[in-house]
Amino acid sequence: MKVLVVGGGIIGCATAYELAKAGCQVTVFERATAGAEASSAAAGLLAPLGDSTDTNFAQLALASWRLYPGVVRELQERTGIDVEYVTRGTIYPMSATQTRRDAEAWAVNKEFGVEVLEGGDVQALEPALSPKIRHAIFVKGDHWLNNQRLVLAYAQAAAAAGVELNTGCNVSHLILEGGRVRGLVTEGERVDGDAVLLAAGAWSSELMAPLGSPLRIEPRRGQMIALAHVPPVLTYCVHGEAYMAPRPSGELVVGATVERAGFQRVVTAEGIAGLLRAAIELVPSLRELPIARTWCGFRPWAPDSLPVLGPWPGVDGLFVATGHFRNGILLAPITARLMTDWITIGQPSIAVKDFLPDRFIRRGAR
Ligand SMILES: Cc1cc2nc3c(=O)[nH]c(=O)nc-3n(C[C@H](O)[C@H](O)[C@H](O)COP(=O)(O)OP(=O)(O)OC[C@H]3O[C@@H](n4cnc5c(N)ncnc54)[C@H](O)[C@@H]3O)c2cc1C
Repeated sequence: MKVLVVGGGIIGCATAYELAKAGCQVTVFERATAGAEASSAAAGLLAPLGDSTDTNFAQLALASWRLYPGVVRELQERTGIDVEYVTRGTIYPMSATQTRRDAEAWAVNKEFGVEVLEGGDVQALEPALSPKIRHAIFVKGDHWLNNQRLVLAYAQAAAAAGVELNTGCNVSHLILEGGRVRGLVTEGERVDGDAVLLAAGAWSSELMAPLGSPLRIEPRRGQMIALAHVPPVLTYCVHGEAYMAPRPSGELVVGATVERAGFQRVVTAEGIAGLLRAAIELVPSLRELPIARTWCGFRPWAPDSLPVLGPWPGVDGLFVATGHFRNGILLAPITARLMTDWITIGQPSIAVKDFLPDRFIRRGAR
């Protein structure tokens, strides 16, 4: 089966890799370079415990989190790339009430090793934290990695598995004939395929709009800072109003804003000041650290903030994997497997009803 993938971010590259392993002939079309957009802009946190742990989204996130140790091992074996997978855990400073409430909800997942820290326990674990922080939750199972390296590893593993990766290749439109997708047009040239996977991140609606599709994926800008972190101030990831993730390569990644700013590719004084203020409030000694770099990226957001995964209704052979919003790095391994199931055997291995693209058609565009 010949599959054409539009978009070479983490979702396109991871799915291309899984499709190739399943025996498909895969071509990826990426208008920039692999991982050039949101997938490189991200912080790389793998933190599946959210407000609720019993939703289908929480189950999806958990399933993907469980795949990570195997994925990291496999990619390292196949490409030699170390994705700087850190498994030390995250400290969440909170109020006393919130600590009790969230600790109870999160502790349901025993595999996360959720612990409540009170009083001096907080600074005993992470001495750089402000002495004002008297309550926190420590989630040992929260992990993080270097997402730039992860996309590169997926792209290289995909190429080694036979995927043709075309970078600098813009897809201008999809070709539909007789109720099914026949291929796409790139750089004025028609390319035919049996299936097309749309994984174009925040730009996914652009190719769907000419089909009269109600799919509305919008960008949500995120601004980020990296502080030079040698010698390291933090051992653990800290997640309050801002988050701070120490990377083995010597950067402390501080993020992130969530803004409705269209595709304006700028970092702003307000965005950076807000992140630094929040970070220094939590870890006062960060005020001394040099700023190594700042950047921004565009998260793909769907109107219900959930990913959009599955076949596009009414167009045979057209599949969509987008809308991963704040969790696309975490969700990449499970997305890749689900989409491979959909494309090769016609049904996914776990419950995906909440994420099906047809929800936009059922409810109408919002
Ligand atoms: C600041 C920030 C912090 C984040 N932190 C985290 C985090 O800690 N953990 C986490 O799990 N997630 C995080 N995310 C979210 C995560 O980065 C995204 O959900 C994920 O990267 C989306 O991947 P994608 O492949 O769908 O999109 P992208 O990475 O944006 O890839 C889409 C690709 O499609 C290409 N493309 C678009 N249109 C076309 C076309 N017509 N033809 C050819 N190519 C095209 C683009 O060039 C792009 O490379 C963060 C995001 C941001 C911005």
